[in-house]
Amino acid sequence: MRVVALLFLVLLAGGASAINVSNRYRSPRNPERRVRKTTELIVLHTTEAPARSSLNKLCERGEAHYCVTEDGTIYRIVDRDRVAFHAGRSMWNGKEDVDEFAIGIECVGHHDKAMGIVQIRAIRDLVAELQRMYGIPDERVLCHSHVAYGAPNKWQKKNHRGRKRCGMLFAMPSVRRQLGLARRPASDADVRAKRLVVGDDYLRRVLYGDVDTMKSSYPKTPSRAEGRESGLLAWLRGGGANKPAPAASPPKSIAELKSRGYTLKGSVTKGTTASKIAGPRWNSKDTYYTIRDKVIPGNAIDPARIENGMGVWMK
Ligand SMILES: [Zn+2]
Repeated sequence: MRVVALLFLVLLAGGASAINVSNRYRSPRNPERRVRKTTELIVLHTTEAPARSSLNKLCERGEAHYCVTEDGTIYRIVDRDRVAFHAGRSMWNGKEDVDEFAIGIECVGHHDKAMGIVQIRAIRDLVAELQRMYGIPDERVLCHSHVAYGAPNKWQKKNHRGRKRCGMLFAMPSVRRQLGLARRPASDADVRAKRLVVGDDYLRRVLYGDVDTMKSSYPKTPSRAEGRESGLLAWLRGGGANKPAPAASPPKSIAELKSRGYTLKGSVTKGTTASKIAGPRWNSKDTYYTIRDKVIPGNAIDPARIENGMGVWMK
């Protein structure tokens, strides 16, 4: 028991350090970068270049907060509370210069190529940790192409979305599922408000439509056992080796949920997403959603079907 308690303390006290981060490419630009006033978004990029040259460039210029390589190593480039220059000409929801309110993560790879599962898991864990630290909901984990915009040029007369496709795969539902992200932004507020026009219709269909070219690379249902929590933490939460055997059939009513020790953790509303209520366990088989006398286990719920008024029950 003492060993278990000790491990638990290490994990809690560790906070972000529960994730291993290498300082090998920490940027010499750090001291000259001001502290960011607010952190509202996480922006994912793809380097479109191999690890070594990407890391050297990012470090030298201070162009990201983190870089995740194919082997799952997370490198710190610019300290997370300082401004890194990663988004360039950018706008989100009427606010320009996204670097002033976003954390940037470069992922070694290409915007239209699947990444290996080891790298995806490292990105997932880093994103989850940053979401927790800064209170960022899933729909504000974006890719660079969500926020970049182009100035008028000879092909496009207006300010337009679609300056680049950087990080595009991270908008695709199959990839977001792997990253444990239940939601993505439903539409482009800047296009809706006519601040920008659509400059790349294919990109628009990837970001907001049904284009998902990664479906075949990632299985539909990731193993919940490999959710965002480390195996150890999940084991500790579950009561370690003394965990009782799971009940034979899932609860079918609110009364049954209660009698089995589940409590209502909150209800989904416009501003309160399922992942805000349940955290990384939003899609666990041990989390239940209730609506109109129906009880739906988290591992069977379609993120698109999570509706306002749904109760979220957990132990
Ligand atoms: Zn980028």
